[in-house]
Amino acid sequence: MGAAMVKFFTLQAPNDKSAFLRIFLGSYFISDGVIRMSNFRFHGVDVTELAREYGTPLYVMSEDEISRRAREVKRCFDERYERCSAFFASKSFLTKDMLRILIREGMGLDVVSEGELFLAREMNFPPEKIAFHGNSKTEGEIAAGLGYGVGKFVCDSMDEIALIDRMAGERGVCTNVLIRVTPGVDAHTHRYISTGEAGSKFGLPPETAKDAVSFCGTLANVSLKGFHFHVGSQLMDNSAHLEAIGVLLDLIKWLYGERGFETRILDMGGGFGVRYTKKDNPQGISDFIGGMVGKVENFCRANGIARPSLVVEPGRWIVSDAGITLYTVGSVKRLPGGATYVGVDGGYPDNPRPALYGAEYEAVLANKADLPPVETVSIAGKCCESGDILIHGIELPEARRGDLIAVLGTGAYNHSMSNNYNKNPVPAVVMIKDGTPRLSVRRQTYEEMFSGNI
Ligand SMILES: *Cc1c(COP(=O)(O)O)cnc(C)c1O
Repeated sequence: MGAAMVKFFTLQAPNDKSAFLRIFLGSYFISDGVIRMSNFRFHGVDVTELAREYGTPLYVMSEDEISRRAREVKRCFDERYERCSAFFASKSFLTKDMLRILIREGMGLDVVSEGELFLAREMNFPPEKIAFHGNSKTEGEIAAGLGYGVGKFVCDSMDEIALIDRMAGERGVCTNVLIRVTPGVDAHTHRYISTGEAGSKFGLPPETAKDAVSFCGTLANVSLKGFHFHVGSQLMDNSAHLEAIGVLLDLIKWLYGERGFETRILDMGGGFGVRYTKKDNPQGISDFIGGMVGKVENFCRANGIARPSLVVEPGRWIVSDAGITLYTVGSVKRLPGGATYVGVDGGYPDNPRPALYGAEYEAVLANKADLPPVETVSIAGKCCESGDILIHGIELPEARRGDLIAVLGTGAYNHSMSNNYNKNPVPAVVMIKDGTPRLSVRRQTYEEMFSGNI
């Protein structure tokens, strides 16, 4: 009796040696000449059992993986360089459990809305570790941020600086601000997740930022600490970041020399890429960030400028690989022309990214994880949109109604972008810690979905 384990591929960074143990896409056991099927396991848990217990679609997240990644960012950034800190971009995944993990790991938090701030407040997230972002903050949001005493606002326009100053003045406080600068670099990622090119809706171009610095100098209720940039998301290497840092450093040097303005904080945004498919080969996080810090340090030393405190804002990198989504196969349609659609019980409502900007994912037939692929299919979402295809052209074993599909790497921007299109409820989130799953967010009920209706 022999047993063989076949590794088809892994989704982890190549330098991650434990990847093989955590995500392996199938093992089969040959016993008395019979191939026995095995179920896909995620962080030690048989996902077919999760589907049975919690239903599908289902978001499954690994607390261990989130913590491990939060610690890795700390190790390669906060702890290696003095006066540095990482803020998690809450828009990528925000739940109470996520905030508990971040508080435990000592990470800061980026919010861009009163809703995100609301949950942070509910969980007593340390206000000084919150940065309030957004290109169109409402007065209500600014009031909420000031009310909770967030550590800083990242300002996106002159108008907003004036508004924050007035509102802080009305409350008798002075609040820290950064100015978001548009560095004018092309991040070579999808147009919809590229944010730093000239003409972007985000931030102010460097010349306007100089005026904003002068303007802040005239205001009593904002204290300008420095600058922020974010070039885009899902970047495979730090070249765009380095280019942007160059632009910011020139600005910082000019302001110091010409205006005597000392930049205390340089926030370099997020965007650290992950591996969704075999096509993606992201630079390791330590090299990615290390190169950025190195560039700032060298420049400051060469120009006799004190190095500002540095901030990074990872979102996707922390949570993407820590999550998968489970779906039950519904109808399987083989068209005469050759195309095969494997329909599932979710799609656009729980993961709009493929429809929104052509995001790609890998998946496994989780209850037949060991069977070799036999056909190329598309995994079709259930919504009334032709664009609701989760994966175009993936090789899978033969799928039948009732089978279980696990789409991998869905931890970022899936739960947070979920919606009720076609009135599908938002799936539950199950969190795995030390090999034990627990319900983290329960499935939305229909009553909750319609609860605002009068
Ligand atoms: C979205 C965003 C991030 C996080 O981006 P990731 O690609 O998820 O790392 C960080 N900072 C700002 C300002 C953002 O808008």
